[in-house]
Amino acid sequence: MMSTSVDIPESGIKELKNLIEGASKIGIATHTHPDGDAVGSAVALYHYLSAMHGKDVRILLPDPEPDAVGFVLEGCRGRIMHYSDSPDAVRTWAESCDLLFFLDLNGAHRTGTMAGVFEGLAAPRVLIDHHLNPMREEFVLAFSETEISSASELLFHILMAMPDVEGDAGRLPAACLTAVLTGLTTDTNNFANSVFPSTFAAASALIGAGVDRDAILSHLYNSYHERRIRLMGELLHDRMVITPSGVAYMILDGEMKARYGIRQGETEAFVNIPLSMWKVKMSIFAKEEGDDTYRISIRSKKGVSANRLAMEYFNGGGHEQASGGKLPREGQTADTAGLAAYIESVTTKFLADEN
Ligand code: 5GP
Ligand code: MN
Repeated sequence: MMSTSVDIPESGIKELKNLIEGASKIGIATHTHPDGDAVGSAVALYHYLSAMHGKDVRILLPDPEPDAVGFVLEGCRGRIMHYSDSPDAVRTWAESCDLLFFLDLNGAHRTGTMAGVFEGLAAPRVLIDHHLNPMREEFVLAFSETEISSASELLFHILMAMPDVEGDAGRLPAACLTAVLTGLTTDTNNFANSVFPSTFAAASALIGAGVDRDAILSHLYNSYHERRIRLMGELLHDRMVITPSGVAYMILDGEMKARYGIRQGETEAFVNIPLSMWKVKMSIFAKEEGDDTYRISIRSKKGVSANRLAMEYFNGGGHEQASGGKLPREGQTADTAGLAAYIESVTTKFLADEN
């Protein structure tokens, strides 16, 4: 029988406690294009360290968070630093830290250009993550589990094992619990994917401790702008292509983005929709970015590895069924027609190899 708890080694908890006790200034970093899990886990850890340990903590985000998760930042807005807005301030803060946490990423490189500020720093680094291929050698302490819903869930099990919490979620600050359930909810697509027995156990403890799940769902799923839904309609109607090998892909170009006034994070979860068709094994969503790249999101059904496709053809990675990456807008993939041809050729080859 699968356990409903996650095995957090006692030695790791001891070491974490010592690291926290020995630090006064702490930085919490997460990945580029931070999603609900990145922001949720960072905010949850922030509240634990500041409210229960009195530490001076800052959250270091490479670029802005999506509007939909803005509500979890209430209560710590002044403690968030965006590298895209103020790189020098982030660098100065990181240099003054005596402890650095890296959440929801497999290595510091996933912080993008922000990674440069951590180079050569002596502060010990702690990893809390759920992605494949953790770069353990970068960290003095690494909590890395892949059979878990989210970094937020893993952090919650770690916090529950800490001596000042003793398995009683009610001892954690309310804002910490809300942030955990937010990250867990977004990374599982509201309990649809990557859900394990431990995930329901965590959710049960969180709701038992008083977290308002209805409020979280309302912020996450009933607060969209009309433009997102109109754009989704046009994309699905006019742009979605389904290949004979069972791959659905959509490309959102700069013209269409501008026409709808689409902002960072507003196309979150579009990639999941085509997977609801029986004949689709894999879904790809590509979005033109200002920096001459296409951001790629990949989702697959069981038996097809989104992670391997992302690693082999899209300079990325992630999880077995949910991955991402990027391609330069040059050469073969200089325009959307070239990108479409590239997606069709690599996925046809990839699926032929997988069978
Ligand atoms: P999303 O499609 O939601 O942006 O990302 C899905 C998953 O793929 C996330 O777990 C994310 O961390 C991972 N991912 C997205 N982009 C990249 C990338 O450029 N490199 C790597 N290694 N992983 C990525
Ligand atoms: Mn995550």
